[in-house]
Amino acid sequence: MALLQIAEPGESTAPHQHRLAVGIDLGTTNSLVAAVRSGSAEVLRNTDDQPLTPSVVRYFADGRVQVGSAAKATQAEDPENTIVSVKRFMGRGLADVARYGALPYRLVDAPGMVRLQTAAGVKSPVDVSADILKVLKVQAERALLGNDEGELAGAVITVPAYFDDAQRQATKDAAQLAGLTVLRLLNEPTAAAIAYGLDNAAEGTYAVYDLGGGTFDISILKLTRGVFEVLSTNGDSALGGDDFDQAIAAHWRKVHGIASADMKDLRRLLMVAREVKERLTGAPQAEAEVTLRYGQSLRLRLTREEFHALTMPIVQRTLVPVKKALRDARLTIEEVKGVVMVGGATRMPHVQAAVSALFGQPTLNNLDPDKVVALGAAIQANALAGNKTGDDLLLLDVIPLSLGVETMGGLVEKIVPRNATLPVARAQEFTTFKDGQTAMAFHVVQGERDLVKDCRSLARFELRGIPPMVAGAARIAVTFQVDADGLLSVSARETGTGVAAEIAVKPSYGLSDAEIAAMLTAGHAHAREDAGLRALAEQRVEASRTVEAVRSALAADGAILLNDRERQAIEAAMQALEHAATGDDPAAIKSALAALGAATAEFAARRMDRSVARALTGKRIDDVTTP
Ligand code: ADP
Ligand code: MG
Repeated sequence: MALLQIAEPGESTAPHQHRLAVGIDLGTTNSLVAAVRSGSAEVLRNTDDQPLTPSVVRYFADGRVQVGSAAKATQAEDPENTIVSVKRFMGRGLADVARYGALPYRLVDAPGMVRLQTAAGVKSPVDVSADILKVLKVQAERALLGNDEGELAGAVITVPAYFDDAQRQATKDAAQLAGLTVLRLLNEPTAAAIAYGLDNAAEGTYAVYDLGGGTFDISILKLTRGVFEVLSTNGDSALGGDDFDQAIAAHWRKVHGIASADMKDLRRLLMVAREVKERLTGAPQAEAEVTLRYGQSLRLRLTREEFHALTMPIVQRTLVPVKKALRDARLTIEEVKGVVMVGGATRMPHVQAAVSALFGQPTLNNLDPDKVVALGAAIQANALAGNKTGDDLLLLDVIPLSLGVETMGGLVEKIVPRNATLPVARAQEFTTFKDGQTAMAFHVVQGERDLVKDCRSLARFELRGIPPMVAGAARIAVTFQVDADGLLSVSARETGTGVAAEIAVKPSYGLSDAEIAAMLTAGHAHAREDAGLRALAEQRVEASRTVEAVRSALAADGAILLNDRERQAIEAAMQALEHAATGDDPAAIKSALAALGAATAEFAARRMDRSVARALTGKRIDDVTTP
């Protein structure tokens, strides 16, 4: 695949001129920016000289915006205006967000995406993410350009593999708002695999185990000839390092009899728990002091053994989605060639031990697990900016749910199947239903079920200006195109005249991974029921199409070609069919269709004879016989 050309007109693309492009891991808990410098990828440090910037944004009444560790440090004081884990709100409506449980924010319902009422005004998740990205952009420019004039060529931004259209689009919008050119969105597990150089390694199947602050993702990647394909993804959007903090805090509350459920005390306890948890990764025991609201001061201790005993059930919970992902990819554990560890929480020794025990092999963990995604994104950005010569880097991802259009009878015609690798373009031909039909409405849907009402509606558009023809004569090619970032556009074109219509799907809000999982399970569970409903709907469509055709034939030629008795027989059969179509027995409709077919056979034959006779009028027999 040709790489993206991003040279401005008049600007040189000579190989010696290194174009500056960065990789950004816009994380739920922490965000990072990395770049390739003198041949190797490195994370760029922030003004606190830290590689990780907490994804925390605090808004002040005077409009000031604070991002990172300063905002995080004062989170307990001003939870309402300090937005954490905004990534979970991207592309989500109020109803989705309400399911996350109690949140300290003033949520505002808005079409498309939820909004947050802050001291500095109403903010959308896109605004908040853009504020994080702006800081990363400045950080990158300072590190890479110093005082030089110049500009970043662009950024590769990572997203979870399961992110749907709405979440990807929201991420792109945030980048644009922050003044960043998005070279492409890259799946996080794919970025991690690139950081480990697996794209240069032997072909095979790899698992990427990503345990972050609040989310757990497992992805199964297949590498063929330097190309990654996401075979399956699974995970838990409410499971991560935070749960370990919660377990420690709950333990201390029990041991020290801290009954008060004061929000601020709880937050302080959680912060200390997190500190102790992180220290236990490198030490057999750790302790810390906490001062609670009413001046009560406590020394809190924990040994690694106690910690492991407390949290082993959480570690075990991550193994369930791992097994599901393997099953979805139709793989056994033995077929997995390597396991990449991603996310700060995979530093914990008992997490590493459990994962390597499950896979029966040591995990790949020699890179910093909270940096690998950014490093891989930097390598990809560097290649896309044209700094890498030689082998092209083509990365494939898959679409999580099938895409299709609504057809007559409320049925879904799937056009791009689930798990198709991106980018993908698929076309299918449709035709008109009625004689003289000049417009056609398209309803684009996503899901695995057979009926439109059980799928998710993405967009509607119309094709107008189809020349009037008899039903079934127009040929309308509908093309679905999903680009490398997972964004969809649909076009329809009447092939005879070339009239066309197109729509870029920018859905108002997306599906959560739980919903995707639910829709998939429902697809399997209802397969038999759906098949019955599909048969019924298809027969109904066939019935109404036939009635329509017979009616128009009767209007045109009934009076000349039929006597009264013949005409009545056809009308009776037509009524019987219409009646059967209101019932829900596909077999009854089928037999009524056959009866109407029989009743109209003679009429059809006469029409045929007559049109042949008409065609022959005035022609000599030699002209029409083939030699
Ligand atoms: P995200 O992908 O959600 O942005 P990260 O990959 O940065 O998150 O992981 C953050 C989580 O990793 C936090 O729960 C943090 O406490 C945990 N973590 C970071 N370092 C360590 C460590 N040394 N030991 C245990 N947990 C750690
Ligand atoms: Mg992460």
